[in-house]
Amino acid sequence: MYTACYAILKKLSLNSLKARVVLAILASSLIISLAVIGAFSTYQYKTIHAQVNKDVNDNLALVEEPLAEALWSFKEETTQFVLSGLVRVPFISTAQINSTTGETYLIGEPVGSAQFTQQLNYHDEQVGELKVWLNNDEINHYISAALTYIIFIFIFSSLLITLVSIKLFDYMVSRHLILISSGLKTYNINDESLTEIELERNQVIEDELSKIVSNFNQLNKETHNFIRTKQKYEEHLTYQANYDDLTGLPNRRYGLQLLEQVLKKNQNKDPFSLMFIDLDGFKEINDAHKHLVGDEILKMVADRLKKVAHSYPAHVARIGGDEFMFIVNLTGDPAENLANIIIHTLKAPYKIQQDVLNLSCSIGIAVYPDDADTVTSLIANADTAMFEAKSAGKSQFKTFSANMFEDLLYRSQLKSAVGSALDNNEISVSYQPIFSIDKSNIVGFESLCRWSHPKFGQVRPDVFIELAEETGDIIQIDRYVLSETIKLLNQLEADYPTLFGTVNFCPLDFAQEDLVHNVSQLLAESPLETCRLEIEVTERSLLQDDIQTNVQQKLEELDKLDIKIAIDDFGTGYSALSYVKHFRKYISKIKIDRLFIRDMVVDTADAALVNSIIRMANGLEMAVVAEGIETDDQRSLLNQLNCQFGQGYLISKPLPKDQFIQLLESDKSN
Ligand code: C2E
Ligand code: MG
Ligand code: MG
Repeated sequence: MYTACYAILKKLSLNSLKARVVLAILASSLIISLAVIGAFSTYQYKTIHAQVNKDVNDNLALVEEPLAEALWSFKEETTQFVLSGLVRVPFISTAQINSTTGETYLIGEPVGSAQFTQQLNYHDEQVGELKVWLNNDEINHYISAALTYIIFIFIFSSLLITLVSIKLFDYMVSRHLILISSGLKTYNINDESLTEIELERNQVIEDELSKIVSNFNQLNKETHNFIRTKQKYEEHLTYQANYDDLTGLPNRRYGLQLLEQVLKKNQNKDPFSLMFIDLDGFKEINDAHKHLVGDEILKMVADRLKKVAHSYPAHVARIGGDEFMFIVNLTGDPAENLANIIIHTLKAPYKIQQDVLNLSCSIGIAVYPDDADTVTSLIANADTAMFEAKSAGKSQFKTFSANMFEDLLYRSQLKSAVGSALDNNEISVSYQPIFSIDKSNIVGFESLCRWSHPKFGQVRPDVFIELAEETGDIIQIDRYVLSETIKLLNQLEADYPTLFGTVNFCPLDFAQEDLVHNVSQLLAESPLETCRLEIEVTERSLLQDDIQTNVQQKLEELDKLDIKIAIDDFGTGYSALSYVKHFRKYISKIKIDRLFIRDMVVDTADAALVNSIIRMANGLEMAVVAEGIETDDQRSLLNQLNCQFGQGYLISKPLPKDQFIQLLESDKSN
C-alpha cells in the first residue's frame, strides 16, 4: 500500500518530504472531517427528528384538552380554529380529527398513514381521535440545509488547518531541513576550514533538529580532525618515505625517483650530468669520534651540498651512508667545474665542538645521453666513475668513460681470484730493506706481499690488498707473510743477530680472536732468540678499538711476546696525536708516510712537518722510519733532522727473498 502510494507520489513528482507531509495532512484532515461530518450528520439528523417529534407532541398535548372540550360541546369553529393553529406548527402538514359522533375535520392533505395519532378524551370519555401528518420534505430540507453548512465549515477549517500546518511545517521543519541538506551538499571533506551548520532560529531551542545539527557538527568536527590527523600522518609518512631524517635531503628512493622524473620530462634529450659524491675516510671519522660527530658531519656536508645545489640549481639527494647524488643540467667543463666546487666546498674544515675535522670526497660523473640513457645505466656509470676517482687517490672527480668498465671487470675478476691466490702459490713475499739513515747500512726489512696472477701478471698490492680486505682473504695472506717473515728472521739469525723484520697488519687481522695465539704459535715453530719481529699497524686498526675487537688487549699481549709495534703511514690519518698518546706504551716506532718525504727537500712545510714528527717521536722515545726515500738529498736532510731509519728505492725496492739475502750479504761486506 505504502509503496504503491509512494510510486504514485513519485510519478506526480511529489516525492519531497514537504509534499508528502502536505498530502498526508490534507488526506488525514479530510478523512477526519468526513468521519466527523458523518457522525455529526447522523447525530444532527436524529436530534432534529427528536426535536420535531417533541415539538409536535408538546403541541398535541397543548391542543388535546381544548380540542376534546370543543368536540364535546360541538364547537365546530373552535375545533377548526385549534386544528388550523396546529397545522401552522413547523413541519406539521396535515391534521385530522375524527369525532366519535362521526364528524371529520381535516386541514391539509393526508399522504399515507398519520405519523401521530392522539385519542381525545373529555372527562375520561373518548370524544374523538386526532391524526397528524408531518411534512417530511420540509424536515429533510431543513436537515440538509443545516448539514451543508456544517460540512462547508468542516471542509473549510480542514483546508485552513492544512494550510496553517503546511506553513508551520515549512517554518518549523522544512526550511531547516533544506538548510541542513544544502549544508551537507556543500560539505567538502577536504576543506581546510571547518564549516558548521547553523539553524536560522533561536539557538535556545533544543529539539530533534538541533540534535541532528549538533550531532552532524560534532561528526563533522571529528571527521575534520580525523582527516587532518590522517593527512598530517600521511604527509609525515610520505616525508619519511622520501626524505632522510638526519639531513633532510631526499633519500635514495626519492633521489632515484627524481632522476626518473628528470629522464621522463626530458623529451628533447637535453644533456645533463649525474654525480655520485662519496666522502673519503668518513668511516674512520665515525669510528674515531663515535656516531654523533659522524652525524653532525653528515648534516654539515648536506647543508653545504644544498647551498651548492641551490645556486645551480640541481637536485641533491643522500643515497647512502656517506654517498650523495647531484643531478644538474650541465655537462663538460661546467659540470667538471661544479665537481671541483663540490670537492672544494666539502674540503673546508668541519668545526664540531672543540674539534676541527677534515674531509674530502670523490666524485663520479655520468653524462646523459652520451654515457647512458636509463636510470640504471646512469647510476652504474656514475658509481663506476666514482670508484675510479677513489682508486686514483681520492679527493678528485672522474667522468665516466667506457674503459672504466674494463677496470671494473679487472677488479671484479681479481676479487674472485684473490681467494684462491694463496692455494695456487701465486702469493709471494718481497723484502724491502730498512736502513740506518746516518750510515745507510741495512738494519731490518719490511715484508711486502706480491701477487703474480697467471693472466694479469703482477697485481699492485694496494689494489689487491683492498680487495682481499673486502673478501676477508687478507687474514690468510697476512698469516702467510708473517710465517715467511719469522722463517726468514730465523734463517738469518745467526749471521744477522740484530736484523729486524716487519709485517703489515690490517684492521681485519685485529678483529680475529686468535691473532695473538696464532703469532705465538708461529714463533714457537721458528723460535727467535730475541724477538725481532715488528708489526706495522695503521691508524685504521687502532681506531677500531672497542669491546669486540679489543685492540688494546691484543697489543698488550703482543707486547708480552716482546713483539714491537710500528705505526705505518703516519700523518695521513685524522687524529694522529690522540691515538699516539693512547697507545704509546706499545708503540716503539713511527713510520712517516712517503707523502711527507717526497717533497721535503723542496717544500719547507713538509720538512717542518717531518721535523716535528721526528721530535715528537724522539720525545716519546719512539724510533722513526722515513718511508719512500728515493734520493740522497732526502736521506741527508733526514739525517740532519735526527731521523734514525729509512726505507726506500734509494737503497732498494722490495726484493724476492734470495735477492734480498744477497743484498744483505753485500751490505755486510761493505
Ligand atoms: P706500506 O706498508 O706503507 O709499504 C710501503 C710501500 O711503499 C710499499 O708499497 C713499497 O714498495 C713502497 N715504497 C717503498 N719505498 C718506496 C720509494 O722509495 N718510492 C715509492 N714510490 N714507493 C716506495 P707496496 O709494496 O706497493 O705496498 C703498498 C701497501 O700495501 C703497503 O704500504 C701496505 O699498506 C700494503 N701491504 C703490502 N703488503 C702487505 C701485506 O702483506 N699485508 C698487508 N696487510 N698489507 C700489505
Ligand atoms: Mg708497511
Ligand atoms: Mg707505509
